[in-house]
Amino acid sequence: MSANGHSADGAPTDQRSVFFFDIDNCLYPKSYKIHDLMGVLIDNYFQNHLGLTQDDAETLHQRYYKDYGLAIEGLARHHRVDPLEYNRLVDDALPLDGLIKPDPKLRQLLENIDRTKIKPWLFTNAHITHGQRVVKLLEIDDLFEGITYCDYTVQPLLCKPAVAMYDKAMRESGAQNAADCYFVDDSMINIIGSKKYGWKSVHLVEPMSTSPPQPVGHFQIAGLEELRHCFPEVFKKP
Ligand SMILES: [Mg+2]
Repeated sequence: MSANGHSADGAPTDQRSVFFFDIDNCLYPKSYKIHDLMGVLIDNYFQNHLGLTQDDAETLHQRYYKDYGLAIEGLARHHRVDPLEYNRLVDDALPLDGLIKPDPKLRQLLENIDRTKIKPWLFTNAHITHGQRVVKLLEIDDLFEGITYCDYTVQPLLCKPAVAMYDKAMRESGAQNAADCYFVDDSMINIIGSKKYGWKSVHLVEPMSTSPPQPVGHFQIAGLEELRHCFPEVFKKP
């Protein structure tokens, strides 16, 4: 069997459904405020590399985030910024070691996934270095079968919610049908995109976050534990 779950004649051998998990602010809570820390480093980067005032840096950062799903995509598109340097100075510079800690309940939840039916897969808009670092700190890196990430070495950058990014995740994970795929993410635009794409989409909105006026996914949950109720078929029977 090849890495993509196809036999020599091209027929799929691994018929399992894929469950895609976003990483940041999804596998660890927003209350860790890593998003805020990252925001400070991103604004610093905008100020130092584009010569902007703090206010202008913040405005531009938010605009790119809204337009592209990632600040770096706007930077790379409009300012010829090197994404790898940005990754080094922003994501990889985050002081995560004391911040992100293993969560026994999360580990239990992931361990309870029925792996005979479901392939757990990471799906992040971060570069591979950041994604791997976070799941290692959470001590759950052994519970996923792979990762689809935003490759900062390839331009233009491809990230959620671009349709081609969902295509990439399907291809890399060996998923057969969009309708059989599950996905949880804290980002509204990513969930709008994935639902349109045909995935069973769950929007994680923690109690401290602002809820959209109308739910955007098939389910809206306040914590990952609720996935057990959304999709009982995903988990092993007790
Ligand atoms: Mg996220």
